[in-house]
This record gives sequence, C-alpha cells and structure tokens, in this order.
Amino acid sequence: DATGEALLRTEGLTKQFGGLVAVDDVTLRVESGEIRCLIGPNGAGKSTLLKLLVGQLSPSAGQVFYRGEDITDLSQHDRARNGMSMKFQVPAVYGDLSVRQNVHIPLQREVDHNIDAEIDSTLESFGLLDEAGTRADDLAHGQQQWLEIAMASALDPDLLLLDEPAAGMSVQETERTADYVHRLNDQGVTLLVIEHDIDFVRAIAQSVTVLHQGEVFAEGTIDEIEDDPDVRRIYLGE
Ligand code: ADP
Ligand code: MG
Repeated sequence: DATGEALLRTEGLTKQFGGLVAVDDVTLRVESGEIRCLIGPNGAGKSTLLKLLVGQLSPSAGQVFYRGEDITDLSQHDRARNGMSMKFQVPAVYGDLSVRQNVHIPLQREVDHNIDAEIDSTLESFGLLDEAGTRADDLAHGQQQWLEIAMASALDPDLLLLDEPAAGMSVQETERTADYVHRLNDQGVTLLVIEHDIDFVRAIAQSVTVLHQGEVFAEGTIDEIEDDPDVRRIYLGE
C-alpha cells in the first residue's frame, strides 16, 4: 500500500568511505509483505546499503525508518529486537560449533519456551535436522548458506535482509533457496534480497530495485527491469 506507512523506508541514505560515495542519496521504500530484490553491478553499493539498513554501519547522511519510526541511531541489536534480521554476504556461521549450536545462538536470549523443540523445528524447515550434530565448517557450501538463513529467521523476523543467499549454489540448491524464500514470505516475512543470479531474481522477486554507482537507477517489476534498455546496458552488459 504505497499510500500507507512502508515497513522500511530510507531518506537520502548516504555512505562515504573516505572519498568514495558507496551509497549515494538512496530514498526507497519496502512495503510490508513484499519480496524485493536489489540488483546491480559489482561495487554498486548493495551490501553497504543492507549494512546501513540493519545497523551494522552508520550512514554519513540520511535516515532509515522502520514502521514509520526513525531508527537511524538504533544499534543492530535493537533493530533485531524490533524484527529486522540479516544474512550477510560473507558466511557468518561459527565453524567450530555444531549446526544445532549455531541455531541456538540467536535463540539464547529467549526464555519461557522449549528451545530444543524450537531449534529442531528451525533445522527441519531448512532441511538440516540430519546435520544437527555436524560441525558447521563440515557442511556443504549450500547447507552453510541455509544454516545462515535458518539463524537469521530463528527469531521470526518481520523483515529479513539476505545478501546473495544463492551465491555459489547449484541449480537445484538455488531452487530450494527460492522455495525457502517463498515459504518465509508466506509466513508473513517481508524480504529484501540481494542477488546476482537473474533466474533466482525472476523466481522470487515481486519488485526489483537496481542500484548503480550507489544510486537507485531503476525500480519496477522484473519484466519492466529486464526490458529496460538502460538497465540492460549497465547491468546485463549490453
Ligand atoms: P556491492 O555489494 O554492490 O558489490 P559494496 O557495497 O560491497 O558493493 O561496495 C560498494 C563500494 O564501496 C565498492 O567500491 C567497495 O570497494 C566500497 N567499500 C565497501 N565496503 C567498504 C569499506 N568497509 N571500506 C572502504 N570501501 C568499502
Ligand atoms: Mg555485495
């Protein structure tokens, strides 16, 4: 509902690293319930933008609003408590710990319910129950990515930010990841997903934002984006 309050909104969001403007005056809104994909060439500022949204980085200028409230000064932890969660591009699983112990980490502040059952059900829903005792380092690459999504979704976030969840995956693994994204969305999770693989984007995206040189370059449905000659020039190299 573009007339109501967006779940997530930014206003002039900017991040400079020295002289480099990695994210440049980005104003965007993500509606509650949608699956939004963020695409763009390497170095476009996608990962930096997600880190600004989740509070891992502070902006040089601009604001982030969540459910209409200015959360620009909230820590990553406080944003997580408000229902925002993220899977980073670089795998962040604890390699020496078991799969079960990894999923326990985001749940450890939880009280008054059955943590073990919660962990089991999270593992089961990402096809990892049989790997519960495996060291995270010993998982296949695809399983590590799923473990990270499991960890990021363990606390039932309202908004899940995924940075390249299908990177390095086979076709079958990518399809399974798309199924997980759809299932989370069916459960009411709003998703903002960075992805390179255009087939994966087509499989999940309800709307697409194209970032180029730190700026929002185009926005629309996947069909509109794929048919846009300017997008094809900067992104698809045509
Ligand atoms: P993308 O995810 O779209 O590939 P990034 O957000 O990772 O792009 O990077 C955008 C630009 O910011 C790149 O030029 C990158 O080198 C630079 N950059 C990212 N993080 C840092 C950092 N911590 N310090 C300095 N420059 C950075
Ligand atoms: Mg990136």
